[in-house]
Amino acid sequence: MTSDFDLGVEGGLLVTSRGRRRANIYVRDGTIAAITNERQPAREVVSAVDLLVMPGMVDAHVHLMDPGAPEREDFPTGTAAAARAGVTSIVEHSHITPVRTDDRLKEKIDYVGKRARIDYALAAHAWPGDVEAAVEVWRAGAAFVKAFTCRTHGIPAHDAAELHRLFAGLEEVDGVCLVHCEDESLTAEAERVLHLAGRSDGAIVFEWRNRDAELLATSTTALMAQRTGARVVIAHASNPEIAAIAHQHRSAGARLWVETCPQYFMLFEHEAIDWGALRKFTPPARARTDADLAQMWRCLAEGQFDIVSSDHAPSTIEQKQESIWEAHFGLPGLDTTICVLLDAAHRGLISYERVAEVYSERPGEALRFVPQQRPTRAGIGRRPGPGGSPGPLDRRRRGHHLQGGLVSVFGSRDARSRGRHVLERQPGGLGRAGGRRAGRRQVPAGCRSLAAPWQVMERAGKPIGELEKLNGVVLIMEGDSVTFQHAAGMAERSSVMRCTQDTRFQLASVSKQFTAAAILMLVERGVLSVAIRSIAGSRAVHQPGER
Ligand SMILES: [Zn+2]
Repeated sequence: MTSDFDLGVEGGLLVTSRGRRRANIYVRDGTIAAITNERQPAREVVSAVDLLVMPGMVDAHVHLMDPGAPEREDFPTGTAAAARAGVTSIVEHSHITPVRTDDRLKEKIDYVGKRARIDYALAAHAWPGDVEAAVEVWRAGAAFVKAFTCRTHGIPAHDAAELHRLFAGLEEVDGVCLVHCEDESLTAEAERVLHLAGRSDGAIVFEWRNRDAELLATSTTALMAQRTGARVVIAHASNPEIAAIAHQHRSAGARLWVETCPQYFMLFEHEAIDWGALRKFTPPARARTDADLAQMWRCLAEGQFDIVSSDHAPSTIEQKQESIWEAHFGLPGLDTTICVLLDAAHRGLISYERVAEVYSERPGEALRFVPQQRPTRAGIGRRPGPGGSPGPLDRRRRGHHLQGGLVSVFGSRDARSRGRHVLERQPGGLGRAGGRRAGRRQVPAGCRSLAAPWQVMERAGKPIGELEKLNGVVLIMEGDSVTFQHAAGMAERSSVMRCTQDTRFQLASVSKQFTAAAILMLVERGVLSVAIRSIAGSRAVHQPGER
């Protein structure tokens, strides 16, 4: 009992939704076997002094396009990227090769089994009018069944009646449904009008996939969830009004969860005008002001959003350079979501406890990977779970998530699943995942805009929040392309105005050189030759030989 722990993670600050405390974690047979204040003998010890130790993150909404379009993303690179970010479990579904039957689910498990480097679960797609297949694929072990309320990525839409039938069917087997909420008639009409006007600018993204379409479909979905009693997750809520609708129906008894994604906390609606398809994801960014972003963080801090997922859906840069109508929807985010959340915690926008809750514990609960009863002992349960190598998550093996020795140690970036390394930080380089290089075959489009800042700062060894100690704007260019830009700190402390990319700065004494150069250019042109002294004053500009 005392001498056979396989692994000790010692001296770290354990963070779960229920608080933080300094403690040592000991793992045996891939399972967390003890959490104590005392040191215990272990065959391998990882020092976590000065580091946060958090549960392995669970990203419940990930598209790896494998099989189907591996040039966009596949299981080996996608799960390596996840491991690098401390994400030890993902739930994957791809619209390119939708899983609609239990046979297809089994085929896909066989196919991805050897390709995944971390734990995974697979979700399935519901097709309008085929409730039976949705129920069967849930019974076969799908993590959830995904339904659309408007035609997207080639998947047909459920109207209100079809949603009602689907939810009623899933409720009978206590299934979970993830719903993409955008109203078919409102988006179809907006699309028709935009095409008629011959529009192909970036603004079509948010005019087509408009705010009302999302609100209306959310209302319908929440009402049907309330009427049927089914377990429903509202996917990728883009703004606080979505959470308010869900709250209203939850108060009336609906079993609803609201998922949101980092892009709605980082990006502005108008960016689609300049960035085009690099900002084409749906629902699109809704924030128009810094105050809108601040409100999103407040909502997350206060519990109005339940789950954060990446909705990871990369494209190649060439695919994102197609016309705005043709380019794929989606952004990468599997390797950056945790950075956005930890940075927000660093800046005090949310707590570290909340990060563990929304990106690990709540998704685990909603999808029933963890016991419904709250775990004990600093939030990490001690009941044994199954060990072994990474494999499919399954509700029949529920409980292994927090119990299973899934630990991320931030700072060292040492992520382990079931006690085994899924990532080891290499000095001066990228991490290694599952024993193989955790590099991507290519940089996914959107990295420059959303992901790159975090990666840049991480390479510099600092969270981006450190930049808050600087008041100013940073712009780094390589050739003609901007590789990094960030505005930090206050432009005007008294009025609490934050710096933006457009903030104008007083150049102080630096400006004198510009004034002098401008005057001398005018002297060269003969415009100011005589008037210099009277304009600039004798003390500022001296003639040669003058004292
Ligand atoms: Zn998605």
